[in-house]
Amino acid sequence: MFLSKTYFKKLSIFSLLGISALYFSQEKTVQNIVGSEQANENNLKKHITYLASDELQGRLTGSEGEAKAADYLSSEFKKLGLKPYEGENFIQNFEYNIKLNPHDDKTSTPVKGKNVIAVLNNEAERTIVIGAHYDHLGLNEHHNSTSANSEGQIHNGADDNASGSAAVLELARMFSQNKIKEKVNYIFALFSGEEDGLMGSKKMAETVKTQYPNTIFMINMDMVGRLSKDNNLNVGGVGTSPILPELVKKYKPEGINLALDESGIGPSDHTSFYLKDIPVLFLFTGTHTDYHKPTDDADKINYPGEKVITNYVFNLANALGNEREIPFVKTKAAATKEVPKYKVTLGIMPNYADSKDGMGIDGVMDGRPAANAGIQQGDILTKIGKCEVREVYSYMDCLSKIKAGEEHPVTVKRNGEEKIMNVKF
Ligand SMILES: [Zn+2]
Repeated sequence: MFLSKTYFKKLSIFSLLGISALYFSQEKTVQNIVGSEQANENNLKKHITYLASDELQGRLTGSEGEAKAADYLSSEFKKLGLKPYEGENFIQNFEYNIKLNPHDDKTSTPVKGKNVIAVLNNEAERTIVIGAHYDHLGLNEHHNSTSANSEGQIHNGADDNASGSAAVLELARMFSQNKIKEKVNYIFALFSGEEDGLMGSKKMAETVKTQYPNTIFMINMDMVGRLSKDNNLNVGGVGTSPILPELVKKYKPEGINLALDESGIGPSDHTSFYLKDIPVLFLFTGTHTDYHKPTDDADKINYPGEKVITNYVFNLANALGNEREIPFVKTKAAATKEVPKYKVTLGIMPNYADSKDGMGIDGVMDGRPAANAGIQQGDILTKIGKCEVREVYSYMDCLSKIKAGEEHPVTVKRNGEEKIMNVKF
C-alpha cells in the first residue's frame, strides 16, 4: 500500500475521481465453496513468516532482500508446476528513477525491480490476473516510512504486503492442485516497486494484453492480514463492472462485513490494470498503527482471518471465470470536485467513510504536526482554526487556507469529549 509520502497526491486522485460512499453490507449469506480446495492457514503462516523475517531486510525494491524474496516466490511457483509469464523464468525486470532528496529536483536514483509472475495455463481463451505486491520499505532508504528516524531499522512489512503475497501463493496452490481445469487461465503476479508508486504493476499492465489479449479481470490483495474483531473487509473496484456488486455479496463469507468502494483507482496495484480498461477488485483489511512502521510484524497477523479472505478470493476468482461476460465500466473519471491546493499537511491518515460530523483519523504519523500536537489515532477531526471539517473534502478545503509555519487551534472529539490542540503547521 502506498500512501505515506505521496499520500496527499493520492488523496487528490481519490477526490478527483469521487470517493464513493463506503457502506457495510450486514446481511448474512451462506459461504459458497465453489471449488474443492480450502486455504491452509499453516501455508499462509509459513510464507508470511519468511517474507517478513529480518533475513529479507524489509524487501526494498532493488535490494538483496528483494532478490531473496523473488527466489522464494519463484521456487514456490516452480514446485506447483506453473509456467513463467514471459521468458525462461518467473522474473519480469523493470526500471525506474526515484528522487531521494526533496530539495534537489535534478538528481534521481535508478532502481531495478523484479516482478515474479507465473501462469496456470488451462488452455483457455480468457485469463484472470490474481496479484499482490511483495516489496516493502527495506531500511527506509526510500523515505516511505511513517515512523520518524527509522532509517536503518528493518521494516518487515508482514501485513504490507507479505500477507497479500502469501495469499497469492496459496491461491496458486489451490487452483493448480484442485484437479479441475477451469474455463480461464490464471496468472499469479507478485509485483515489486509498489511502495515507490505502483512501478511493477505498471510494467505488467503494459505487457499483459500483448501476452494475453483476453485478460478479463484483475484481483489485487494489499494488506489482508489484519482482519479486526469487527470483521470489516474493504472491497474496492466494485464499480468497474456491473456484475460485481451482486457477485461480491453472493460469495461473502459468513460473519464478514463488506465495506464496498466503487472506484477502480486506489492506493495499490489494481489501479494499473484498471487504467488499461480491465475490471478489478481490491481487497484490504484496513490501516493500523503499524502501517509503514518497523513494527508491522508477522506475530500481529490474523491468520484465521486471512484464511477466510483467501477462500473468499478463491470463490470470487472461480465465479468470475465462469461468467460469460464481465463488461468494463469507468468509475467516475471526470473531475467532479475541485481539489483545493494545499502547502501544509497534518500527517494523518483520514478515514474516507462518508460522514457529516467530522473526519475520523485512522493513523497519525510520528514527528508530523498532528502527532506533535498530541492528536491520536481514533480522534475525530471537527475543526481546523474556525474552518469546519465534516469529511475528507472539507478537510482538504480547510488545509488549503493555511500556510506553512502558521499555528492554529485544531478541534477533535476523543471518546465523545471535545479537545482543542495547538498545531504548528
Ligand atoms: Zn505500503
